[in-house]
Amino acid sequence: MTVRLFDPSTPLRPLRAELREAVTRVLDSERYILGPEVQAFEDEFADHLGVRHAIGVANGTDAITIALRALGVGPGDEVVVPSFSFWASAEAIPPIGATPVFCDVDPETSCVTVDSVRAAVTAKTKAIIAVHLFGNVAPVKAIEEELGLPVVEDAAQAAGSLGPDGRPGSLGSIATFSFYPSKNLGAFGDGGAVTTGDGALAERVKSLRFHGSRDKVSYEDVGYNSRLDELQAAILRVQLPQLDRWSDHRRAAASWYASALDGVVGLPVATRGASPAWHLYVIRHPQPDALADHLHTRGIECRGYYRRPIHEQPAMAGYTRTLPLPGTDVAAAQHLAIPISAAITRDEVDEVSAAIREFCG
Ligand SMILES: *Cc1c(COP(=O)(O)O)cnc(C)c1O
Repeated sequence: MTVRLFDPSTPLRPLRAELREAVTRVLDSERYILGPEVQAFEDEFADHLGVRHAIGVANGTDAITIALRALGVGPGDEVVVPSFSFWASAEAIPPIGATPVFCDVDPETSCVTVDSVRAAVTAKTKAIIAVHLFGNVAPVKAIEEELGLPVVEDAAQAAGSLGPDGRPGSLGSIATFSFYPSKNLGAFGDGGAVTTGDGALAERVKSLRFHGSRDKVSYEDVGYNSRLDELQAAILRVQLPQLDRWSDHRRAAASWYASALDGVVGLPVATRGASPAWHLYVIRHPQPDALADHLHTRGIECRGYYRRPIHEQPAMAGYTRTLPLPGTDVAAAQHLAIPISAAITRDEVDEVSAAIREFCG
């Protein structure tokens, strides 16, 4: 028996008829770009998050670029971003002429802290990207309040999570989501969204996703062609009502792991007051690759996602590390994602836990 690292398909099986109906509805409507499905999904997603505006875009990477542009970030500006994240969190910065400045994370939460961000801030800092990594909830409100700078929440991994001040996507100036198929809320292709409580920022985002134009006549900005399409929006609308239930299942699986593995390996720690919808369940071990080899022989999928942090990637060679990043070094060297999904069974969690305990003696 194989235990898969993630499983986006099993939770969709009971929704097949509804999904087919949604696709047919779009075919029948003959509207494919920026029509009623995108509008309805934007309203429903904003409602779900408790934020005023959601704007559909083509993917989670464009969402970050567009959010930074909407904040007015451009050439000469610095953007603070954690080095321990998916590459796209920082990839969005250089194309708009700004400079990424890498900050540290707490290896137990995998998130930035007020202090780790503060250490990277200079007079040139225009914005901060706080990643809700693995579905944990970064302290966005505290960062904005204490440092007085706008935060872009990278919530690509945090759909379904809950923080003490609300849901990721509603905590800072502006936020970004990815609907890549394996995310907690996944489309049948690429998709993304930008969310904000600020009406002026929302208008800028709407313009930027459509070539920098509001009326298709006058072009105020050099923007992007970056839209969520009607088919993906219709598919996401079927899934959104299930997201909280799916997230509760992820939380339950995390608690099964925590009771089986406490004291055996390093466990992920939720930030204060957070109830994460663990997108990935990521443990720490001094020999993660040997542990991974052992799990593979037992048919258990697992993966070290960010073994080489972003500031060490060749394409970021021009942006040298200026700060010590000890938490990043530990997280990168020791992390290992083990199976979790909205459909993982108790037996599967027990099997994975037993194999880990066996390796750890
Ligand atoms: C997936 C992801 C992105 C990028 O999203 P895409 O839709 O693949 O462009 C950005 N940041 C993080 C943390 C992600 O996990």
